[in-house]
Amino acid sequence: MQDPHNKPIKRVVIAGGGTAGWLAASLMKKVLGKAVDITLVESEAIGTVGVGEATIPPIRLVNQVLGIDEAQFLHDTKATIKLAIRFENWKTKGESYYHTFGAPGKSMAFCHFHHYWVKARQQGLKDDLWDFDLNYHAAEAGRFAQINAKDPVVELPFAYHFDASLYAQYLRKLSENMGVVRKEGKISRVQRFTDSGFIQALHLESGDVVEGDLFVDCTGFKGLLIEEALGAGYDDWSHLLPCDSAIAVPSERHEKTAPYTRSIAHDAGWQWRIPLQHRNGNGHVYSSRYISDDQACDTLLSNLDTKPLGDPKLIKFTTGRRRKQWYKNVVAVGLSSGFLEPLESTSIHLIQSAIVRLIQLFPHNGFAPSLETEYNKQSELEFEQIRDFLVLHYTVNERTDSAFFNDMRNITLPDSLAHKIALFKESGNLLREQNDLFLESSWLQVLYGQGITPKDYHGLVNSVPEVQLNQMLTRLLEIKKEPIAKLPTHDEYINGMVAKY
Ligand code: FAD
Repeated sequence: MQDPHNKPIKRVVIAGGGTAGWLAASLMKKVLGKAVDITLVESEAIGTVGVGEATIPPIRLVNQVLGIDEAQFLHDTKATIKLAIRFENWKTKGESYYHTFGAPGKSMAFCHFHHYWVKARQQGLKDDLWDFDLNYHAAEAGRFAQINAKDPVVELPFAYHFDASLYAQYLRKLSENMGVVRKEGKISRVQRFTDSGFIQALHLESGDVVEGDLFVDCTGFKGLLIEEALGAGYDDWSHLLPCDSAIAVPSERHEKTAPYTRSIAHDAGWQWRIPLQHRNGNGHVYSSRYISDDQACDTLLSNLDTKPLGDPKLIKFTTGRRRKQWYKNVVAVGLSSGFLEPLESTSIHLIQSAIVRLIQLFPHNGFAPSLETEYNKQSELEFEQIRDFLVLHYTVNERTDSAFFNDMRNITLPDSLAHKIALFKESGNLLREQNDLFLESSWLQVLYGQGITPKDYHGLVNSVPEVQLNQMLTRLLEIKKEPIAKLPTHDEYINGMVAKY
């Protein structure tokens, strides 16, 4: 059989049918259409990781590209709206702050809003950063509607919480309707070409053989193709993000569903609470160097305020990234490409951006090395930027009550992150580098929320007379609060949408 190096790539084989596998199948089929034949192999006996329920706003682009009807999506995946993450006990025990998808203030010429706010605070202003953020007001009030505002000052950016297994089923239906072929069965052997080491075929326990030109490895943490067959290597980032375990358990829903994720810091990690229509998703992410699995489980169960539904599930992981996410004719997508804990709900986004990148660099005419190099360069940067943002939450803290948080204050930071923190502290400046997923407003909220107040502000602020500055801030406060009373409650919005199906 011909080695696939230099011939047109037509047969795409996706190994694994979790969120990564089915998202890859649906997006690639939708965009590449007849240019590819896609076969997806998955094993019901192995199952999926079954967590991953909070997302960030770019997921809405995926839905748009796939032509998904929002009401149907909310209905079928039992989804709710996410406006923000509320970080509790992260700076000190008892304090909390929000990382919203909005932006405090408004966009200003030449320098960001927060410089004006920093000066006003230095002069005695009492209003906090989030008082200037519509997402914050809506999250606190438990209200939501899609606002089709022309003025970005009153936009309400949002994402979703959804049931991960229902989401995978939803994507499966979409994919199969577009012509993706699903094969049930356990992959027992990966066959490679002798000369190049490229993958030639997957052998299933049933005796079936699935041949392909390009293989997308979505087999989860183990990386059946990228690691077990090709040995692409893994960069372990546990020294920066020492959490290595999670315990997850669903619980009964609350009477009212909050339109935000809760992230509650404990003594050796943190707990998520994700409200869905039919239940809450809960989990405790922790470092086993500081707490045992049993203690972590007790902490989780004693911090659920509704009845657990089912047994807690233990998941072990190593934070880091696959050294080559594209290697030979295999591209790793999802957990097989690396793992960053779900503190900022970035994993499903990483799946999305990996597929978009693969589509952009698709080797239609064969495996040119420049494609693989570019793909790996971009994904390395993306993982590193998200890693830095996650580390920020841990390393800037005032928690003196926990050995874990004490140690996190003293870790050696990557230069990129140390520079960002120092720059903000000294000058209030936030420089977004090279398409960082997190915009200045995200860095601002977490830097300030974790306890850093800049010593200085942009010089341009001084050109605005004090009276005018105060008028501007007062008006902005009104504008940001005004829409809230007119919005339905979050539950009214969801119920109204799902009633259409
Ligand atoms: P999996 O779900 O593990 O799927 C692997 C697939 O490969 C399965 O279909 C399996 O059957 C198949 N497979 C494996 N081996 C074989 C074989 N030999 N033969 C045939 N098939 C095989 N992400 C977010 O965006 N937001 C969150 O809030 C979030 N929370 C998380 C919390 C935790 C504790 C963890 C661990 C992850 C979280 N994630 C989150 C990440 C998210 O769960 C994953 O990114 C997502 O589910 C994708 O997983 P996957 O498809 O790569 O792997």
